[in-house]
Amino acid sequence: MVRTNQKSPAARRGHERHKLSALSWLRASVLGANDGIVSISSLILGVAAAHASHANILLSGAAALVAGAMSMAVGEYVSVHSQADSEAAALAQERAELEVDPVGERHELTDIYRRRGLSAALAREVAEQLTAHDALGAHARDELGFSGQSLARPRQAALASAGSFTAGAAIPLLVAVFASPEYVIPITVAASLACLFFLGALAAQAGGARILTAALRVTCWSALAMAVTAGVGALVGTLTRG
Ligand SMILES: [Zn+2]
Repeated sequence: MVRTNQKSPAARRGHERHKLSALSWLRASVLGANDGIVSISSLILGVAAAHASHANILLSGAAALVAGAMSMAVGEYVSVHSQADSEAAALAQERAELEVDPVGERHELTDIYRRRGLSAALAREVAEQLTAHDALGAHARDELGFSGQSLARPRQAALASAGSFTAGAAIPLLVAVFASPEYVIPITVAASLACLFFLGALAAQAGGARILTAALRVTCWSALAMAVTAGVGALVGTLTRG
């Protein structure tokens, strides 16, 4: 029976998966940008609290931006690459199983379709036709749950991660460049917390969470991180000056 008044469950699931993956990209970008803002503004505060010169504040901020972006890229590349590796290994195993035991694999597929609600006869028919059409594709999709193409793209993930970190890190750094030296600390704090609040609200709205609560949570924890770093910077600055 064709339901005309609503989307088919399959179409709805496809749509949800699409939305979910766009959402996970947005979440990853926001996380990267948050990371950039918090780490670079904390660093600037720590160095400024130790009474470093304006030039030294900017130098350490720029160095930390590059180091952070590289570390994000490497970490993301390695983690996503290992995900791609395990996907490839699962596919290779499936291919081998299909060669060794094609009948058993067809029964496996039949069972999967029966569990999804098809009658035994129809499940067998579907399994037979899909096996004839593209056996590996059917197993990849319906047994392993892979969609058409691999979700794991290491280089893209590494670029996105480094890019969003850099975008976030550039905010406190630019603020520190243009702020007059005696006001670097308060202006960096204000600008960073405002951006974090905005990003938190954006992510919450996209994810359907409560906007104010989520934005305040990000802002408060970030403020704490900055305060700790500034405190340590002030302490170390006092100690090293003797
Ligand atoms: Zn299989």
